[in-house]
Amino acid sequence: MKERTLAIIKPDGVAKNLIGEVAKRVEMEGLKIVAMKLIRMTKNQAKGFYKVHEEKPFYESVTDFMSGDPSVIMVLEGEDAIRKYRRLMGATNYKEAEEGTIRRDFATDIEKNVVHGSDSAENAAFEVGYFFNSLEIMV
Ligand code: GDP
Repeated sequence: MKERTLAIIKPDGVAKNLIGEVAKRVEMEGLKIVAMKLIRMTKNQAKGFYKVHEEKPFYESVTDFMSGDPSVIMVLEGEDAIRKYRRLMGATNYKEAEEGTIRRDFATDIEKNVVHGSDSAENAAFEVGYFFNSLEIMV
């Protein structure tokens, strides 16, 4: 089924000049980038985005990390896009990520793990709408 998913190149990924590398892997996988922008999230935007993790001990830290420095926000489209992009990213903890995944290749920390991808259709719809309006997404 054709799906959309929200992908982020997190501030550590942008700082490491990985925008092109991540975009290349996305395109090689056959996914289309249908929206893309460079943004600097505010602390409140990051808190809203990670609201599901509000109770977690790392909530303050991850929302500090995600705000203040630029990230690239993309909408990816394609067959099975959510699962395909999650597979490209690898496990949250880069030490557990499979070889050849973005996190295994480039992450240095469980928090500073280079990329984000929606983990379900429901979350993808929320996350795409959180950063983009419909006019910004190519059809
Ligand atoms: P994801 O879907 O693979 O990004 O993982 P989660 O939704 O579980 O966590 C969201 C983000 O919070 C992760 O990508 C990390 O940046 C951060 N995170 C997750 N677990 C931890 C943790 O145990 N410690 C810290 N410091 N950050 C974490």
